[in-house]
Amino acid sequence: MENKPEMRQWLEDFKLDHPLVIAGPCSAETEEQVLDIARQLKDTKVSIYRAGIWKPRTRPGGFEGVGAIGLKWLQKAKGETGLLMAVEVANAHHVKLALEHDMDVLWIGARTTVNPFAVQEIADALADTDKIVLIKNPVNPDLALWLGGVERLYNAGIKKLGVIHRGFSTYEKTKYRNIPEWQLAIELHERFPDLPIICDPSHITGRRSMIQEVSQQALDLNYDGLMIETHNNPDKAWSDAAQQVTPDMLKEILNDLTVRKKTDETHEFNHRLKKLRLRIDEYDTRLIEILGKRMRIADEIGALKRENNVAILQTRRWKQVLDKMTAEGLQENLGEEFILRLFRAIHQESISHQEKIINK
Ligand code: PEP
Ligand code: MN
Repeated sequence: MENKPEMRQWLEDFKLDHPLVIAGPCSAETEEQVLDIARQLKDTKVSIYRAGIWKPRTRPGGFEGVGAIGLKWLQKAKGETGLLMAVEVANAHHVKLALEHDMDVLWIGARTTVNPFAVQEIADALADTDKIVLIKNPVNPDLALWLGGVERLYNAGIKKLGVIHRGFSTYEKTKYRNIPEWQLAIELHERFPDLPIICDPSHITGRRSMIQEVSQQALDLNYDGLMIETHNNPDKAWSDAAQQVTPDMLKEILNDLTVRKKTDETHEFNHRLKKLRLRIDEYDTRLIEILGKRMRIADEIGALKRENNVAILQTRRWKQVLDKMTAEGLQENLGEEFILRLFRAIHQESISHQEKIINK
């Protein structure tokens, strides 16, 4: 499927002079909570109110959402504030209930996008309605799966589409809850330039202190909007407590953001440079994280050598490492001299780590 300019008409119709903002709690908890937050978000930059009614939990026992009763609360909030209402749907039954309760925006969660059967079922249930449908990226960094979700909905006659970038899960521990992998979203944007793209810094970071920074990065990449989890009592939230912000914090975050002009000729260079630098920064962060991990293993080796009273420097092993790395470096187009200098530095750090352990 190629780019479809009509996909972004719904967004243009808002006639906003700032990025689209979707905000509201991770989960609807009580009627009072839903209404209180909605009232605080009325007359702000927020256009769409979000709340999860059915919550996909990784393991049973967590809060699985209030269910269909929450739709009544959202309907009430809509009547009172005029905000558009968004809920997550994961199957045809959810879609039916959401349509019956006059929800305006449906989003497909990351755990659902991974499953083409579920996405197709949702697309069929929504066929030819005029709802706005937003597709979150799949949990795993698989662009085809994400594109496939967009295509299934478009083919079912849904023309008001958008994607939400909420980051990707990895086994590695990083400073993010879900690593952004910006280049994947950038690639999707290059495939469908008219498909609105919304960043969800809440699920990317998992921490409220990082939301500002990631929101700004998204705007620097010309994202069309932000989805930010907002709660009247974040620390007491029934799900995702650490990442939710209060309505006042949200207003501050939004006020402090610098909205860049959409690219024109003169901005094109800066824009491309920024995109590339963001990718470099992402890799630099990972390099440091990987080096930290490597040194922690060196510490364990140090402890093992101490227990067995073995010398730290093992020349033969070190020579093997260097040979292997210069060969692999060549494959990656890295100069031999660079690899030697890099690994000497890494080895030196590793030895000083081990020395600290042995002489403890
Ligand atoms: C959510 O938006 O609350 C949610 C469950 O998100 P995700 O599907 O991105 O994990
Ligand atoms: Mn959440």
